Amino acid sequence: MEILKKAASLYGTPLYVYFESTIRDRASRVKEVFRGTNLFPTFAVKANNNPVLLKILKEEGFGMDIVTRGEFIATKLAGVPSTSIVWNGNGKSREDMLYLLEEGVKIVNVDSFEEMEIWKEIRPKGVEFFVRVNPEVDARTHPHISTGLRKHKFGIPLDSLDDFMREFCDMNIKGLHVHIGSQITEVEPFLEAYERVVEMSKKYGFEEINIGGGWGIDYEGKELDLEEYKKCVVPLFREYKRVIVEIGRFVIAPAGFLVLKVILVKRRGDKVFVVVNGGMNVLIRPALYSAHHRVFVLDKGNFSLKADVVGPLCESGDIIALDRYLPDVKKGDLIVVENTGAYGYSMANNYNSTTRPAEVLVKKDGTISLIRKRETDLDIFRNVVM
Ligand SMILES: *Cc1c(COP(=O)(O)O)cnc(C)c1O
Repeated sequence: MEILKKAASLYGTPLYVYFESTIRDRASRVKEVFRGTNLFPTFAVKANNNPVLLKILKEEGFGMDIVTRGEFIATKLAGVPSTSIVWNGNGKSREDMLYLLEEGVKIVNVDSFEEMEIWKEIRPKGVEFFVRVNPEVDARTHPHISTGLRKHKFGIPLDSLDDFMREFCDMNIKGLHVHIGSQITEVEPFLEAYERVVEMSKKYGFEEINIGGGWGIDYEGKELDLEEYKKCVVPLFREYKRVIVEIGRFVIAPAGFLVLKVILVKRRGDKVFVVVNGGMNVLIRPALYSAHHRVFVLDKGNFSLKADVVGPLCESGDIIALDRYLPDVKKGDLIVVENTGAYGYSMANNYNSTTRPAEVLVKKDGTISLIRKRETDLDIFRNVVM
């Protein structure tokens, strides 16, 4: 962990540090799990949009799953061909459709009847559609990152699929798409959803399928059992001519560490608050989803202090980690937050007029390179007109 200290001394804090070797290892594991299928792996750019990291994944044979124009531009900066892009989302505007078609995007996951009506008017040439279905399966993850129930806004119910296929029989529909949520740590919800979707897929004779992402990682001790997944889930897809997966978190989360500096340690009765120089502005997951991230203090052992690690912003929800046993932390110590490569920087924001952090990459040979500069105070106001 010397390297984290070195990176922080070179580039300051808060700082996101990514490890190239971890990204490549995780990408290889995805491919290994699906060995024996015609896999087309894609990376969900919403998890992390740094083009330098996308380029590494591109080299590992990954295409990209995008939702917005901005994410498309990230893939262009990484040199990803438009034909390796899968376009997702429940609110694609007509303007964006025309723009991305012009740019050569060819694979689209359609979310609704209403969206397909717009596509039908446009009549795109050469676009392959996948229909996002909602299999009504409980992903047993946090409600905000669960997507596969009827009450959620995504996809069309399986029982409307016949109508959909009838109405849009002249569109180039290649298969079904399903994504039931994120940070799923049990095999069962996947199996349940995929069995339903594969059955429907067979009914229509589809030779391709898009099975989304959502693999759960080890934030606090439990992760998706990939051996079991490989044994129980993957065989469902052996026959397909193309199996698209869209993985974000699993590939990138463990490759990233957020380094924060302790501003002060505040004691109030028996409660201890370790106040660090970044909170929900740099990492919003604990505030947004009550997410758990392991934290450790660089250069210290002996865990004797029970404390909340909190940010400096004006919200009680501005927390990084609650009720943790830490070493005796002092002003100026560095606290590292684990598994922050996914939905970390990509959800960072300027709340309280704070600047977004810098990002660095630790290459395979151990060299550290800056891959995104820290925002400056003036950057926050660059669009003000007065
Ligand atoms: C978010 C998302 C993904 C990636 O999810 P992870 O949990 O990061 O793997 C894949 N597909 C769709 C449609 C998504 O919305």
